[in-house]
This record gives sequence, C-alpha cells and structure tokens, in this order.
Amino acid sequence: MDTEADLFYRQLPKVELHAHLNGSVSFETMETLMKRKPHLNIEHSMTAIRRGQRRSLDECFQVFKVIHQLVDSEEDILMVAKAVIQDFAADGVKYLELRSTPREVTETGLTKQRYIETVLEAIRQCKQEEVDIDVRFLVAVDRRHGPVVAMETVKLAEDFLLSSDGVVVGLDLSGDPTVGHGKDLLSALENAKNCGLKLALHLSEVPSQRDESELLLNLPPDRIGHGTFLHPEVGGSDSLVDKVCKQNIPIEMCLTSNVKGQTVPSYDKHHFQYWYKRGHPCVLCTDDKGVFCTDLSQEYQLAASTFGLTREAVWMLSQQAIGYTFAPEPIKQRLEKKWAELKQQILQKHFGLMQTIADIQQDHKMRTHFDLMQTIADIQQLQIYSWVTKSEAAEPLYLISVLMTVALVWQPNEEFVFSGLRVKAPTRASRGQSCELRQGSTPVCLRELPLMLLPPSLWASQHKRSGAPTATHLSLMKIVEVPPSGPCVTGRDVGRV
Ligand SMILES: [Zn+2]
Repeated sequence: MDTEADLFYRQLPKVELHAHLNGSVSFETMETLMKRKPHLNIEHSMTAIRRGQRRSLDECFQVFKVIHQLVDSEEDILMVAKAVIQDFAADGVKYLELRSTPREVTETGLTKQRYIETVLEAIRQCKQEEVDIDVRFLVAVDRRHGPVVAMETVKLAEDFLLSSDGVVVGLDLSGDPTVGHGKDLLSALENAKNCGLKLALHLSEVPSQRDESELLLNLPPDRIGHGTFLHPEVGGSDSLVDKVCKQNIPIEMCLTSNVKGQTVPSYDKHHFQYWYKRGHPCVLCTDDKGVFCTDLSQEYQLAASTFGLTREAVWMLSQQAIGYTFAPEPIKQRLEKKWAELKQQILQKHFGLMQTIADIQQDHKMRTHFDLMQTIADIQQLQIYSWVTKSEAAEPLYLISVLMTVALVWQPNEEFVFSGLRVKAPTRASRGQSCELRQGSTPVCLRELPLMLLPPSLWASQHKRSGAPTATHLSLMKIVEVPPSGPCVTGRDVGRV
C-alpha cells in the first residue's frame, strides 16, 4: 500500500525534461511488444535494469539496441509514445519534453520523417483524449552517427520546428558519450541554435569529455543533460563550473540512471548536491524510466530522502522546473497557475496546518521581521524554548525553534548551534533584515526550512502545564512565511485563543 509520502510525491505536480522515448517504455508496454514479436526471443531482463542491479554505461547502450528491435514500425512507435505519455501523466507529470532520435528501418518502411510524424501523432491523440499533460518534443542527434547525419537531423528538426505548431521545440545531443567528439558536431548544433531550436545537450557524462564540454558550453546550450563530471571534485574544472554558473544553464539530473549506469558511485555522492547547494537551477528527471525501473515521483522522493529536502523545498524544485522548459511564455504561465492551484490543495492535505505563502501575502496585518524578532527577544523564556524543541512534532516546530534560538542569543553577531544549524544573529545595523543560518559551513536558506508551526489549540493545551500564554506568546504561533526574496522571516499576530 502507498504510504502518505508515496502519495505526496505522486500528487506533486511535476515537470519532466529529460526522457528518451525508447528508454521510457514501461514493463507492461514492453510485454505487449514482446508478444507482438515472439521470434525475437527478447526477455524483460534484456530491456530493464531492476532494483539493486547495475550495468556499465556500455551495457546500458546495449539495452537500447534490444529495444530498437522491438520498436521498429510506425505502429510500434505510435503505441509506445502514447503509452509513455499516459504513464507520465499518471505519475503526476503535467509537462513533458520527450526526446528521441529519428530512425529509419527499411524492412518496415519507416523513415526518419515518418518517425517524427508518428510521435507527433501520438502527442496529438493524447491531447484529443484529454490526457492531463502538455507534451513537447526534442529531436535527438545521436553523436555516434557523425556530423553528416547530425546536419541532416538538424534540418529535419528545423522543418518540424516550423510546421509542428509549437510541439517540436528543440534539439537533443545524446548517444554513447565515449564515441566521437563534440567538435565535429559543432556546426550542426550552431545551425540548430541559429534557426531557433533550443539545445538540450548531454554534457560531461563521462570524465573524458572535459575539452568537449568547454567547447560546447560556448554555444551555449539551453540545458545540460547530466553534467556529471563538470565540477573539479570529480575531474571537471573551475572553468567549466564558471561557464555553467555565469550562463545560469539548468542541469537535468537523473539520479537512478546515473547510479544504475555506474557513472555515480552512490546516491549520496550524486552531483545534485553540489549544484543544488549553490542554488544553481537543477531539474530532476528520469532519463529512461523503463530501462532504469523508476518514475519521476520516485526520483523526487529519492532526492528528498538522500539530501534531506523538506516538502516545501521539493515543491519549489518542481515549480522552478517550469522556468527551465522550452515552452513558450503563455504555457509557462499556465503551468505556474496550475501549480499555484494545486499547492493549496496538496500541501494542505499533507500538512494540515501549513499556511501557504499566498495566504500570508493576502494578510494585510503582516508584521515585519523586526517586530517579530523583537517579540521573540522580549520573551526570553528558556522554558518555551525547551518545550518547543522537545515536542514530538519536530518538523513543524523547527522554524520556530530556530527563531527562538536567534532571540535567545540576541547579541549582534553572536552565534549559536541548534540542531546542526549554526545560527548567527544579525549585526545591529542589519537587525530586522535577516539572520544567517549555516549547516556546517554551508549557508542554509530559511526558505528551505519547514514552514509548519503549531496551532493555537496545541499551545492552549500546553499552557495549562506551563503557564498561561500571553498575547506575545500567541503571536509566535503563526510565524509562517519566508518571502521568496531572501533569508528573512516575517510573522503575524493571530490574537488570543
Ligand atoms: Zn539521457
């Protein structure tokens, strides 16, 4: 049975930006394909890497060769593409950019042109059937096929960019990263960029691609796939990191794919951590949900449990991905609206007491940060502090605890360690602006802390043991909002219970 957490991650609206069509085929769809072509003698173990299994990157690419045998006609592509879109929709993905390399198969009469047209037909049919997902397509260039084919593929993509009514939005560069060099594909990629195709390039998937990445980052790409070996700690370089940061290029992160494909030794060593901590645009993706036996909900859950992300942070991660899509502006706005509507519904369901940012913004009685800090400083009661920290509802009370800690050390620049967070009181000059939180040496944004607090009723039951709450106490109970602009906290007075 699904746990509450499973349900939350499934209901979380998501954006999938790195999904290869043939790698995303589910177990069930694969079964149908195998039955259609029994003479191929293909088994599930040849098309999927199960839990606990790992393969070398080369073996992963062998898996695709098997899948390509199963998907080699227009009929197959239509079935597979529709099924994949429906799978993503069922997983709570509201916007999907699917990618695939157009193939030709002489025996079945499949041409590259028809390949793309069939995928677009699947997208059209899903839309007609009102599947709740917006799907766009990236035409993929397989680097193994060299510069001439790359140039032809770009031309094909350009034709569809103009004729597909906005469904074809960009170009992907993928394929075995150990084959060929990006410099040979540079002119094709430049052509693509010049004609308005957005570029999502697999970059630094293996350590040997450092020079290539230097070169391709000059384009620059609009998004990076994986970027596993960009940073110096894994053999990349400061220069690569600088280029990515200065151009603020979002990175598509595929945790399970990288661990099962053995380019990353374990989840906790995944480079998501490196980039996310820097506040760099990161988007969680599946890569090949069929081959790696995952889905996007699992990837979010995995990232949250591995890197200790709160649900608010998870929500932000999925919402920010809207900005990294290749969708036109009106679509992005529509998605933002959808997220805003669902946020109220989903977060409140899963966090009964949590107030949303929108709630607070609507509250005209919002108090200033300074007022709040002053209020806390006035209390100075260790009794409250210890009660708050001892409460079983540890997560909801975390923020309030931190704030109280700030109040208790209310001397300019004074520091205090609380639950692994180093809290530094602001200087007198900046008092009322912000306080600084650090986990080890890493700054922690208050926005990433849980925003839930205790309800007045809980406090009321507590005060029978610890003295009647004053109006000042009560004002603490609704410290809920952290504005998106920075590490600053505001609260409001909720009056007496
Ligand atoms: Zn990929």
